[in-house]
Amino acid sequence: MANLQGAIDSLHQQLSARNAGLNQESRTLTAVLDGMAEGIWVTDAEGTVVRHNDALRGMLQTTGDIIGQRPLALLRNDGLNEAVIRACREGASTRLELTLEGLFPRMLAIRVTPLGKDLPGSAAVFHDVTELRHLEKVRKDFVANVSHELRTPITAIRGYAETLQGGALQDATIAPKMVDIIHRQSERLSELVEDLLELSRLESREVKLKVTDVPLAVAASRASEVVRHKAQGKKITVELNIPPGLVGRGDERGLEQVLLNLLDNAVKYTPEGGRVVVTGALEEARCVVHVRDTGVGIEPRHLARIFERFYRVDKGRSRDMGGTGLGLSIVKHLMSAMGGEVRVESQPNEGSTFTIFLPAAVPSASVAG
Ligand code: ADP
Repeated sequence: MANLQGAIDSLHQQLSARNAGLNQESRTLTAVLDGMAEGIWVTDAEGTVVRHNDALRGMLQTTGDIIGQRPLALLRNDGLNEAVIRACREGASTRLELTLEGLFPRMLAIRVTPLGKDLPGSAAVFHDVTELRHLEKVRKDFVANVSHELRTPITAIRGYAETLQGGALQDATIAPKMVDIIHRQSERLSELVEDLLELSRLESREVKLKVTDVPLAVAASRASEVVRHKAQGKKITVELNIPPGLVGRGDERGLEQVLLNLLDNAVKYTPEGGRVVVTGALEEARCVVHVRDTGVGIEPRHLARIFERFYRVDKGRSRDMGGTGLGLSIVKHLMSAMGGEVRVESQPNEGSTFTIFLPAAVPSASVAG
């Protein structure tokens, strides 16, 4: 009797130990699954979900029951449903991609696999590839845009060169005009390439900005010198009203480039006889510079996008004015690299105000007012 009791006790101990072990293993597995960024579900042999992790709930954007549901009820996608059936019945693996519509559409890459020979059922792993696909699209659009932008001047250069070769070179009135056009278009090409290189250096954080104290009135005055000729040609007055004591912390060359791009746009998109005014002030320990124009303005629906590469409100007008569509994108990158930002306010037909914010180099007392 005592022996039997002993055997039962020992069996009980062994079972308890094994139970504790299984418990631990199951908790570890749950913790691992819930810690994963990928969504996972496991189905039984009928294709009904019997287990899932936390990430899956977020991906499917559901608060309802997942366990006990069939794939079709959860995602309404025939391809996924068939993949689960194939995995359960034929032991076949499938990869597929689907888009979840809704307020925030998501793209999911899914791999459905059978569980194994002695384990009936299937498992599916869900990767959220929304961001990846978006980046791929941005890259493709960028390459398409660059090619298109390069093609325009190249076509012109080739066309005029061929016309010259075809005999126009002998024509004393036409030939110089054509050479002029070729020259202008090649300048345009090189501006485009320069802007692209600058943008790519900024985006890859290759440029090391040299942060110093920069008097903003000086930077604005240098930038305005560059556009003076263009402004005079259009009878546009450019007024600079930045207090001499307003000093920002930033890269001198970068700030001049920012102000030049903003001033150049202001002159470019303001009709003859207009006005461009640059003002500056210290606000809450930040330097604020406004570049205001009385130009064509920008409709509200375009405002959020004008800082994107190659985004233009009016492609034809921008090109005619010699724009590359990259200026504001460079401004935005430069400002953010200097710990500042750029904003825009605009009314169509009334004008635009571009405002840059930059860390200040001096205590507020010295330039207050
Ligand atoms: P672009 O070389 O075409 O001027 P930008 O990146 O500098 O490229 O500007 C993007 C677009 O934003 C311009 O094509 C233009 O439509 C609009 N824009 C920029 N500045 C102004 C402004 N001061 N007034 C009106 N529209 C502007």
